[in-house]
Formats: sequence, structure tokens, C-alpha cells
Amino acid sequence: MKPPPFAFRDATTLADALKLLAADEFAYPIAGGQSLVPMLNFRLIRPSVVVDLNGIDELAGIEVYGDRALIRAMTRQVDVMAHAELAVGWPLIRAALGFVAHPQIRNRGTIGGSCVHNDPAAELPSAMLALDVTMAVQSQSGARTIAAADFFVGPLTTALEPGEILTAIELPAQPADHGYGFAEVARRHGDYALAAAAVLMSHNNGARIVVTGMGNGPQRIEAAEQALVASDFGEAALDEVRKLVSNAVSPIDDQHAPAWYRARVAGEMAARACADAIRRMELGAK
Ligand code: FAD
Repeated sequence: MKPPPFAFRDATTLADALKLLAADEFAYPIAGGQSLVPMLNFRLIRPSVVVDLNGIDELAGIEVYGDRALIRAMTRQVDVMAHAELAVGWPLIRAALGFVAHPQIRNRGTIGGSCVHNDPAAELPSAMLALDVTMAVQSQSGARTIAAADFFVGPLTTALEPGEILTAIELPAQPADHGYGFAEVARRHGDYALAAAAVLMSHNNGARIVVTGMGNGPQRIEAAEQALVASDFGEAALDEVRKLVSNAVSPIDDQHAPAWYRARVAGEMAARACADAIRRMELGAK
């Protein structure tokens, strides 16, 4: 199918883009276009105006300052994967991106586009929730920040208001001894997750276990986190993690997999990601 008719506007500054978005309630920004263009072609959305963010230099790039970092929204997924300091300080992002689509799509797809699109089976939102990042957002009326836990609201839905642009993702400091794990089952490598888990842990900060692919977007499973901490990160607790995660999710039943399968695989992915994270934490290896 072809997209419905729409006007196309190039923005060259953030101020330009915000003005164009504020002028029309049916205006959509376009980043890498890897989700927006299919939605247009399937006529799932009918924007009156598409505002191109690709010419806005101030929206792209990565900054590492001390033990924190900032990834601007228009940074391509490929550039995030290739960034040496991010790979050392926040290796969970690179691990998650390894499961996102294929190189051609990651060359165009942006970090911000994936988070705003918030596909319920996407990998990056689960990694961002596990990392407890902060989203920096701007509209014509000002700037605000949103914690990842409040940003990912539901399938294809975030806390962004009309006229707002995600400008950057702020990565908090991670303890030096932190361990991470990302595990996924998909029909083929590069497909969206049927079930996946992103895990982050450290002796002092505890564990964060997030699963995705259940149909509702990224979901933290606090009961499993507590079980892991109560066992002092013992591998013996992995059976409990497996059960607690499977019981906590309410997966969808669709043409790709039945609900019982997704629940079972979510538990297994969480246990595997936890096992990897424990090993990395204990070895101090990243
Ligand atoms: P766009 O498609 O340009 O935009 C997506 C949405 O976000 C639109 O609604 C747009 O208006 C909005 N938006 C974009 N940037 C901003 C911003 N800064 N502020 C406010 N709103 C904004 N993804 C996965 O996670 N896992 C996969 O396995 C996977 N497989 C794929 C396979 C194929 C064949 C394709 C085509 C895509 C796949 N994707 C997958 C999606 C891919 O990761 C996209 O890059 C991503 O979802 C969207 O990023 P984008 O930069 O292309 O955003």
C-alpha cells in the first residue's frame, strides 16, 4: 500500500521542529523512518505533516562525562553500538542492540525513534528501563525530564505529549562491579522478541529484571529481583526467578506464539540473563 498524502517539512534546528509540531496536532516527527514509514504505508497513521529531524545537528551525538553519559535522540543505533565508552560503561545497551533488526535498519534507526515508537516487543525500551535512564523532552513551552519507569506507558505509547520531542537519553552512573545480561527468543535472529529479558545487577544496588515481548511493553518483575537479592545472587535462585517471572506476566496470544509459550520463555530468558549477569558481576568482566 502507498502512504496517505501528507506535507513534508525539513527542520534544521530544534526550535524549527518544535514550531512545526506545535502548529499542527496531526504533525509527526520522522527520525530513521524504520517504523514510521511502514506505519504510513500500512495507513496505520495519517499525519497531515511529517517533520524531518535528520538535519538537526544538535539532536545527534553521544557525550560521556565522568561516570554518566547522554545519548542524543537522533544518534543512529549503529553509532551507539560502536561507541567504545558506552560499551564499557553501559554494555547492556550494546547487548540489546545486537538483537534489534539487521545492520541496514540499525544504520538508519535512531535510539530515540525506537524508544518513542515503544513497540511492545522491542529490545531497547527494556534495556532502558533496566538501566533506569531519564528521558529529556522538549516542547515549545519548555523542557522536562521523564524517568524511564514513567516514559514507557504501553504498547506504542509513551508519556510524550503532542508537540514534544525526545531530545536525549541520560544514562545514570553504574557501579563498577555491575553485571548485565540480555537473552531473547525470536522466530529468526533480528526479528522482534517473542520473549526477552534485560537484567542489570550489582552487590550494592540490587537487581533489575525487565521482560518484554508479552504485548504490553517492558515490564519490571520486582518479585524475581527480590528473590535474587535474598539469595545473595546465588545461582540456586534462578529456578525461583524462572517461576516468578512466568507467573508475573500476562502475555498475549497471537499468530506468532501462544500465551503459555511466551510466559514460559519469559521465565527462561530472565533466568539465562540473570545467570550471565551473575557471572559477569562475580568476574568483574564486562
Ligand atoms: P521512526 O520510524 O522515524 O519514528 C518512530 C516513531 O517515533 C514515530 O512515531 C516518530 O514520530 C517518533 N519519533 C522518532 N523520533 C522522535 C523524537 N526524537 N521525538 C519524538 N518522537 C519521535 N526494532 C526493534 O526494536 N527490534 C527489532 O527486531 C526490529 N526489527 C525491525 C525489522 C524491520 C524489517 C524494520 C523495518 C524495523 C525493525 N525494528 C526493530 C524497528 C527499528 O528499530 C526502528 O529503527 C525503530 O523502531 C524506530 O526508530 P526510527 O529512528 O527509525 O524512528
